[in-house]
Amino acid sequence: MEIFEAMARDGHEQVIFCSNKAAGLKAIIGIHDTSLGPALGGCRMWPYATEEEAVVDVLRLSKGMTYKSAAAGCNYGGGKMVVWGDPKKDKSEALFRALGRFVEGLDGRFYTGTDVGTASSDFIWSSYETDKVSALPEEFGGSGDSSITTAFGVWKGMKACVKEVFGTESLKGLRIAVQGVGKVGFHLVGHLVDEGAAVTVSDINRDYVDRITSKYQVKVVEPDAIYDVDCDIFSPCALGAVINDDTIKRLKCKIIAGAANNQLKEHRHGHDLQSRGILYAPDYVINAGGMIQVVDELQGFNKERAFKKTAAIQDLLTRIFAISKRDGIPTMQAANVMVEERIESISKVSRVFLRG
Ligand code: NAD
Repeated sequence: MEIFEAMARDGHEQVIFCSNKAAGLKAIIGIHDTSLGPALGGCRMWPYATEEEAVVDVLRLSKGMTYKSAAAGCNYGGGKMVVWGDPKKDKSEALFRALGRFVEGLDGRFYTGTDVGTASSDFIWSSYETDKVSALPEEFGGSGDSSITTAFGVWKGMKACVKEVFGTESLKGLRIAVQGVGKVGFHLVGHLVDEGAAVTVSDINRDYVDRITSKYQVKVVEPDAIYDVDCDIFSPCALGAVINDDTIKRLKCKIIAGAANNQLKEHRHGHDLQSRGILYAPDYVINAGGMIQVVDELQGFNKERAFKKTAAIQDLLTRIFAISKRDGIPTMQAANVMVEERIESISKVSRVFLRG
C-alpha cells in the first residue's frame, strides 16, 4: 500500500505505528486534521485480515472524526487508533498500558477512548500511563454510558427532520421504525414511546427484542422486514451501509434519522434519497451526542452542559437542511460544506501571531 499517497489523498497529517512485542501490542494511530485542536477519536480493536486493512480503517475513521467533531462545534480534530487483535482473546493490562504510553508520548496531540471492540474498563489500565483517555467508567472519574447521550441527540435530531417535513416538532402519532435496539436503540425507543410515536423495532438479538417488549408497547418485525415497514421515519441504529441499492427501493419512509455510523453505502445514495424526496439526517451530525459527552469529560464532566450541547444537534440539522435546499445538494454534502467552511475559517484565526 502507498501510505503517503493515501494520506495525501484525504489530507491526513500523521500515521503512527506502535509496537510492543512483550505486551502483544500492534496498533496504528491516525491523525487526520488538527486545525481545530488536538485529534480525538476512539480506539478500535479488531482482528484485521491484513496490515493494509488496518491502515485503511484508521485513515477512514480518523477522517470521519474530523467531520464529526467540527460539525458538533468541538475544538478537536480527527483521530483514531486501531489495535490489531481479537478483543475476545488478546486484551491484557500490559497491552492497554503500552497503548496508553504511546498515547502519552504524543503529548496531547491525540486523545482516545472506547470504540468497537474496546470497553470503558479497558482504559482504566491505559489511564495509569496517560490522562489523554476519556469515556472512563463513572467510578473512575469518567462520564459513564455515552449511548444515553447519543440516543438523546438522535431524538432531538428527529425533531429537526419532522419540522422540516411535516412542519411540527412533535413526534406524537408518527410511525417510526427502529433497526437495532442495542444500547442506543433502547434509549431512543424510550424517548419515542414517551412522546406518543407508534414504534416498530427489529433486532437480530432475541434478548434485546425481549428487553424492549417487556418495557415498551412496540411492534416487532423480523430483521429483514424492517426496510418494508410503512412508516414516517426509518431509524438505523444497528449497522453501517444499510442505505444501498437494495434497500432504497424498499423504504416507505419520508425521513431517515438514526445513530448508526456510515449509513449510506456510497456517496451517490445521498443523491438517490434526495431524488426520492426522503430527508436524510447526516449520520455523523445526528449521532454526535456520545462524542460531545466524551469531549465534555475532558474538561471535567458536566452532565447538564453535555446534554445542552447535544440538544443543539436539532438546530444544526435545521441549518444543514437550509444549505441543502439553498444549494440543491444532498444533506450529507451540505453537512460536509458546513464543516469544511468552519475548519477553513477557524484555521485563518490561528494565523494571527500571538507572541515571539
Ligand atoms: P449495540 O451493539 O449496543 O447495538 C446494535 C444493535 O444492533 C444490537 O442489538 C445488534 O443485535 C443489532 N443488530 C445488528 N445487526 C442487525 C440487523 N441486521 N438488524 C437488526 N438489528 C441488528 O451498539 P450501539 O452502541 O447501540 O450503537 C448502534 C449504532 O450506533 C452503531 O452503528 C454505532 O456505531 C453507532 N453509534 C453509537 C454511539 C454510542 O454512543 N453508542 C455513538 C455514535 C454512533
